[in-house]
Amino acid sequence: MSTKKLLDNFHIWLKQKNIDITGAKYESYPLNCDYQGMEFGNIFLIGDAAGLIYRFTGEGIHPAMISGEEIGKKIIDPNYKISIDEILKKKKQQFIITNILVNSRHSIMFIHKLMIFLMKRKIFKNKIFKILT
Ligand SMILES: Cc1cc2nc3c(=O)[nH]c(=O)nc-3n(C[C@H](O)[C@H](O)[C@H](O)COP(=O)(O)OP(=O)(O)OC[C@H]3O[C@@H](n4cnc5c(N)ncnc54)[C@H](O)[C@@H]3O)c2cc1C
Repeated sequence: MSTKKLLDNFHIWLKQKNIDITGAKYESYPLNCDYQGMEFGNIFLIGDAAGLIYRFTGEGIHPAMISGEEIGKKIIDPNYKISIDEILKKKKQQFIITNILVNSRHSIMFIHKLMIFLMKRKIFKNKIFKILT
């Protein structure tokens, strides 16, 4: 989708929601979703520093809190086994979704609309919500 089309849609949505963005500035910010581990000898990484952001939604607050707690426990007890399996599972699912969207340039709108359509169906709704929220 072209940036113009994206902006037009955004403005339609803002108008529908009665949101005034006068004076606001468009900005983007790179997010680190490249997870390579959390323990590096006596150096520990958590949250964004560990690349725990979810690639599709850009959410990182929850993984930052969980990884912080886990590393905290590990520092207190060196025998503690860190567990962020749920986060890594969700990261993998969002990685797959993003890859599909990135690699399907011409059918991206179709896939996007299909996802919205499926999210309105009870059977898929919970599954998709689990991956995206
Ligand atoms: C525009 C934007 C919107 C977002 N929206 C959402 C959202 O809606 N939901 C969601 O879940 N996530 C969102 N995120 C992601 C979320 O903000 C981060 O994933 C989360 O804050 C990561 O927490 P963190 O503790 O790892 O890092 P941070 O919150 O970045 O904390 C790191 C802290 O370390 C400090 N610091 C850096 N270098 C040094 C240094 N050398 N010495 C001392 N202190 C230092 C920084 O100032 C900062 O306070 C958004 C991110 C952006 C950029």
